[in-house]
Amino acid sequence: MKILVINTGSSSLKYQLIDMTNESALAKGVCDRIGLEHSFLKHSKVGENPVVIEKDLYNHKLAIQEVINALTDDENGVIKSMDEIGAVGHRVVHGGEKFHDSVIIDDEVMDAIKECVELAPLHNPANIIGIEACKHIMPNVPMIAVFDTAFHQTMPMEAYIYALPYEIYEKYGLRRYGFHGTSHKYVAERAASMLGKNLEDMKIISCHLGNGASICAIKNGKSVDTSMGFTPLQGLCMGTRSGTIDPAVISFLMEKEKMTVKDISDFLNKKSGVLGISGISSDFRDVQDAAEAGNDRAKLSLDIFCYKVKRFIGDYAAVMNGIDAVVFTAGIGENNDYVRTRVLKDMDFLGIKIDEEKNKIKGQELDISTPDSRVRTLIIPTNEELAIARETVKLIK
Ligand code: ADP
Repeated sequence: MKILVINTGSSSLKYQLIDMTNESALAKGVCDRIGLEHSFLKHSKVGENPVVIEKDLYNHKLAIQEVINALTDDENGVIKSMDEIGAVGHRVVHGGEKFHDSVIIDDEVMDAIKECVELAPLHNPANIIGIEACKHIMPNVPMIAVFDTAFHQTMPMEAYIYALPYEIYEKYGLRRYGFHGTSHKYVAERAASMLGKNLEDMKIISCHLGNGASICAIKNGKSVDTSMGFTPLQGLCMGTRSGTIDPAVISFLMEKEKMTVKDISDFLNKKSGVLGISGISSDFRDVQDAAEAGNDRAKLSLDIFCYKVKRFIGDYAAVMNGIDAVVFTAGIGENNDYVRTRVLKDMDFLGIKIDEEKNKIKGQELDISTPDSRVRTLIIPTNEELAIARETVKLIK
């Protein structure tokens, strides 16, 4: 069966067509600048160079139609007709407290996803538009929603309730939800498989370190805590996000700098983190180059990032009463040996020891622990699209 995986943003739409008989991607691409001037589709058949098709994509419906055209194109396509698409798996950012798992999308589910817009005003509306556009063009194809938040719905209350007056939680659902759930779940399953162990018997700390970064404590296959919160702003310092700060900083800055609500939100989400500290870039490659060339603030930003990752690992070791495996994934986790070394330095008291030669690996699955390390440290490239396709197949079966 072939599954189309869709990840819709407000002006973009990423897709991947996966053949689930051998779980291989056949084609992938992105429609960008939807609704704006100079919109285009970048499509690639796996193993071939991408083609860029400039096209007026006034809305997401036109974008989906263009994706189908590209997938069925004589030259660049990979299927003969749309009928070969067995189902569509949609990434949906927020499932609130309603969704503990992926679901087949029906009218009731659509209403529930719409109710979650309040919790994710930047993301869920785009996801809804993507689903509606697909339903319009492929009315008879089953659609599945896979939520970033669902995996963390197993967190205990003590982990997810903020120490605010309880009525606020009841009134607005204001609590920690966590994100990157599809990725954390995928790498935890891979970790158990790589180590030949049963996921239900393991304590895993998954470090998803990309532009957005979060850490998850996974005990017996379930998320018991994660670093992101009500929004993806909480937790680690990230490419451009501050992560956790003293909440009093907000009123202080709003007063001193005459910031509006939008100003402070942009400040914390887009101008802070590694970019804000280094003053150079949010991309770790640029920041690392600058640090190596002697830029102190670039070095400081990396120090802060690594320090916070280390602290969460310590936290979650305490939460789970130990660790069997630490997993590194996403752009930085998979590729940046400097960050991994810095994070795991002096963690032998917890039983974590890595082999520096093995740690040089980039973007491939590998156990980089020394033979005598009690805790296994694994590099596992994440594959959220495959995880979504697997969920989709599971549900439609
Ligand atoms: P996003 O959250 O946008 O998906 P990514 O997972 O792509 O982010 O991570 C982006 C970060 O990963 C950047 O800081 C970048 O420096 C780093 N990164 C990505 N690919 C590589 C690579 N091949 N080598 C080193 N660093 C990389």
